Amino acid sequence: MNLIFMGPPGAGKGTQARKIAEKYAIPQLSTGDMLRAAVKAGTDVGKRAKAAMESGGLVTDDIVVGIIADRIAEGDCKKGFILDGFPRTVAQATALDSMLKERSLKIDHVIDITCDHEALVARITGRSTCADCGEGYHNVHKKPAKAGVCDKCGGKLTTRADDNEETVRNRLSVYDQQTAPVIEHYRHKGAFKTVDGMEPMDTVLKNLCAIIG
Ligand code: ADP
Ligand code: ZN
Repeated sequence: MNLIFMGPPGAGKGTQARKIAEKYAIPQLSTGDMLRAAVKAGTDVGKRAKAAMESGGLVTDDIVVGIIADRIAEGDCKKGFILDGFPRTVAQATALDSMLKERSLKIDHVIDITCDHEALVARITGRSTCADCGEGYHNVHKKPAKAGVCDKCGGKLTTRADDNEETVRNRLSVYDQQTAPVIEHYRHKGAFKTVDGMEPMDTVLKNLCAIIG
C-alpha cells in the first residue's frame, strides 16, 4: 500500500499518518521530520535546509527529492509507505512519478486532508510534541495532565521553531502558491480523494481507513 497524504500545515496529516502507519505496519515518510532531524544533527542537508524551514519557506526540490529517493529504496518500504509532506511542489510530484516508474511502483491513494486557514493558525500556534515518543498535544484541545510533560511516556514537550503565527501565515501562503497545484496534478490521474480535516480526529481516522480499506 503506497499512500500520499496531502493537506495544508496543521490539517493533521502527520498525526493521521502516524496512526495509519501503525495500523497498516508501513513506514511514515515525513520530509518535515527528516529535515528537522538533519538540522538537529547538523548534517550538510540540515545546514542547507535550516534557513528556509525557519522562515516557513520550502527547502529546494533537489534536497527533498534526494531524501525521498534514498528513503524509498530502503527495505522497510517494500511493503508500502505513506508520504507525509511530499510532494509539495509540481516539480517534486513529477520527480516522484519517474522515481516510482523506475521501480515499477504506483500510488494507491492520494488523500487530501482539507481544513480552513483560520482554524489552522489556531491549531498550529497551540501545538507541542513529545520529544521522546512523538505524541502531539494542544494547549486548548488536548492539554497534557502536567504542563510540558507527555501523558504517555513522561517525555518533555517541545514546540517547533516554525510554529509561531508569522511563520504559519507564510507557510499557508506557500501552500496556496506551491502545493495547491500538486492537487491538480493528482486530481485527474485518479485515485485522488478528499477527507474533511475539520472533523474530530477519530472521525478523520475512520474516514481515512474507509478509503484505504
Ligand atoms: P507542516 O506540514 O506542519 O508545515 P512539515 O513538518 O511537513 O510541516 O514541514 C516543515 C518544513 O519543512 C516546511 O515548512 C518546509 O520548510 C520543509 N519541508 C518539508 N517537506 C518539504 C518538501 N517536500 N519540500 C520542501 N520543503 C519541505
Ligand atoms: Zn511521550
